[in-house]
Amino acid sequence: MIDNKKISKFAISVVDDLQKNNFQAYLVGGCVRDALSGIEPKDFDIATNATPEQVRKIFKASRIIGKRFRLVHVFNRSELLEVATFRSGDNDKNDPDNLITDSSGKIIRDNIWGTLEQDCKRRDFTVNALYYCPISKKIEDYNNGLKHIHKKIIVSIGDPQRRFEEDPVRSLRAIRFSNKLNFKIDNPIKDAIYDKGHLLSNISNARMFDEFCKIFLNGMGEKNFIKLCSFNLNKYLIISRPEKNDFSNDVILQALKNTDDRVKNQQSITPGFLMAALLWPTLLEKCSRDGEINIRKFFRSMDGVLRNQQKLTAVPRKFSSYIKDIWILQLKLHSRIGSQPYKTLRHPRFRAAYDFLLVRERAANDKNGLGKWWTDFQKNDDSLRGSIIAQMKEKNDEESSKKFGFYNELR
Ligand code: ATP
Ligand code: MG
Repeated sequence: MIDNKKISKFAISVVDDLQKNNFQAYLVGGCVRDALSGIEPKDFDIATNATPEQVRKIFKASRIIGKRFRLVHVFNRSELLEVATFRSGDNDKNDPDNLITDSSGKIIRDNIWGTLEQDCKRRDFTVNALYYCPISKKIEDYNNGLKHIHKKIIVSIGDPQRRFEEDPVRSLRAIRFSNKLNFKIDNPIKDAIYDKGHLLSNISNARMFDEFCKIFLNGMGEKNFIKLCSFNLNKYLIISRPEKNDFSNDVILQALKNTDDRVKNQQSITPGFLMAALLWPTLLEKCSRDGEINIRKFFRSMDGVLRNQQKLTAVPRKFSSYIKDIWILQLKLHSRIGSQPYKTLRHPRFRAAYDFLLVRERAANDKNGLGKWWTDFQKNDDSLRGSIIAQMKEKNDEESSKKFGFYNELR
């Protein structure tokens, strides 16, 4: 049923080595699900009854990682595999060695080994709980995952209300998988998302940042955003946008479209660019009045906006300075006289800032030509650039530079 040509040779060899050492070993999770749904599997996870120490002994190039959830990374020059030991998922409070909870009862270590049957039950969705042995080519399916792949539906393992309470991030995962696979979401899961979505506010901002990247940078960002909004979950990933203004939604959708296209074309992508775009309407709202930007307020609001976003998703430091650069460059792109355009062009973030300018113009349906001006300016050599700037002077750019031409955005 699964064509082994779709599976990494390295992953197959690791399964084979574990089995030759008399352990059970399977490919599991996303790679099996994707291979069965006609999507190119990207990363390969392995589940085994060998403990992390036993796995570590078999593979020279490996290391044990994680505290709460100990795993082994097995790697070669170009690939890295996660090998996880079957877990029981039963929170046996009587076993203090393996299940450690903090004062609020949150599980901070979860290493009670179990059997394959037990390991299935702790996974989130039936389509994610298929175990494939590439040697015998058999699939172990204890939860009707195959049937649900055939029916194109995301179904919870166990009562989704309880499972989403246990881990609220599963709501985001259900949305992401349904778009990635083009599967329906089972009704009880939809109810659980509505009922338990608010628990996402308890998840650490570091984990939420990981989810932010998975949900918006996987090539399905726009679709995911729309579905998140329909469940009212977008507010757990991005600080709330000003309402009533069409532009705020348009700039977000345009930026997500732009990122999705880049993923499709295998161009580089960064969470920094997307965050700059997603937070832009909030920043503008904080510093504008009656359709005009207050520049001092603009500069003063930047850190506040980033701090508020930090409360939801961590924003690693390298990204926060990148985001501020892109924002400040939006102002600089407006001054097109003297030596300023040359300076702006040399800025290491020019390219990203220019891309964002185009996104903004598309969203605001802005035809004031600033983007085109910069497109021309980049194309020309130095002698022509001088004349482009001279023309600019003649046209007297004063008014648009005073208001920074944000008419449509501030409507
Ligand atoms: P993708 O890699 O496309 O995001 P995936 O299904 O491989 O999808 P991972 O986050 O890599 O997702 O997790 C691997 C497997 O581990 C999942 O298929 C699922 O079986 C299990 N899993 C991951 N996260 C959770 C969770 N929060 N709750 C329960 N099971 C989970
Ligand atoms: Mg995976």
